[in-house]
Amino acid sequence: MIRTTELSKSFHGVEVLRSIDLGVAAREIVVLLGPSGSGKSTLLRCLNGLEELSGGSLEVNGVRVDADMPSRRKRSSFREIRRNAGMVFQQFNLYPHKTALGNVIESLLTVKKLGRAEAEGIGERLLERVGLADKKDQYPSRLSGGQQQRVAIARALAMEPSVMLFDEPTSALDPELVGEVLEVMRQLAREGMTMVVVTHEMKFARQVANRIVFMDGGVVVEEREPEDFFRDPRSERARKFLNQLS
Ligand code: ADP
Ligand code: MG
Repeated sequence: MIRTTELSKSFHGVEVLRSIDLGVAAREIVVLLGPSGSGKSTLLRCLNGLEELSGGSLEVNGVRVDADMPSRRKRSSFREIRRNAGMVFQQFNLYPHKTALGNVIESLLTVKKLGRAEAEGIGERLLERVGLADKKDQYPSRLSGGQQQRVAIARALAMEPSVMLFDEPTSALDPELVGEVLEVMRQLAREGMTMVVVTHEMKFARQVANRIVFMDGGVVVEEREPEDFFRDPRSERARKFLNQLS
C-alpha cells in the first residue's frame, strides 16, 4: 500500500530524512517511534504528499512520485496521494466556524462535489462510527479535545482514504481523553484500515502495531515486531529511547 525507495528530504540543504526504505502492506499497522526531531512528522507529511521529496520515490496505493519527475506530473500525483491518505494531526485543525457535521462533510462538498443531502447522510454515518452521532450540530469550541479529535478522524475518513496517517493524535489531549481516541483507532485497525501512527502511547504500540519502525536522526534505525522491539531493542539508540520513557 505504501512504498518509499531511498526517500530523502532536506530543508535548506539540511537533510532531515535520509534514504528511507519503508513498505507498508495493506491492513498493516505501523507505529513510528523515535526521539523528537528524528523526522517522524516529516516522513508522515511526505507519505501524505504534503512535502516535496528531495530524492527517491514514493508510491501510495499504486500512485507513484519520483523526486526527479517533471513537476506537472508530480503535482497531479501528489494530489492523488493526498486524497488517498487521510491525515490526523496532534492539533485537530477543525474549522472553528463549522459544526462537527460541517467539518466532516466539507471535503465531500468541495472535493467530491456531492450534494448536501448525500454528504450529510455520509457525514452522519461517519460521526456515528466515531461515537459522536449526537454531537453533529455542535461547534468545535463546545466539544472536548477527545471529541474534536474524533471529528477530525471522521473528517479524514470521509474521503475514503486507503491509508490513515496519525501524527501524535493524542499528545494534545488531557490524559482522561486519550482512551476514547485510541479506541476509535483500535476499531479502525480491526476494520482492516492500513495505518501509520506516530505516538508515545507505548501500550497502544505494543498491542495494535504489526511493526515498529524506530527512527533517529532521519534514518530508520530498527524495524521489528513490537514484542521483540520492546523486549530486546537491538540498537543502543532504541534502548536509550525506551529507557527514557520508563
Ligand atoms: P519529529 O516529528 O520526529 O519530532 P520532525 O519531522 O518534525 O521530527 O523534524 C525533523 C527535523 O526536520 C527537525 O530537525 C526539524 O527541525 C526539521 N524540520 C521539520 N520541518 C521543517 C521545516 N518546514 N523547515 C525546516 N526544518 C524543518
Ligand atoms: Mg513530530
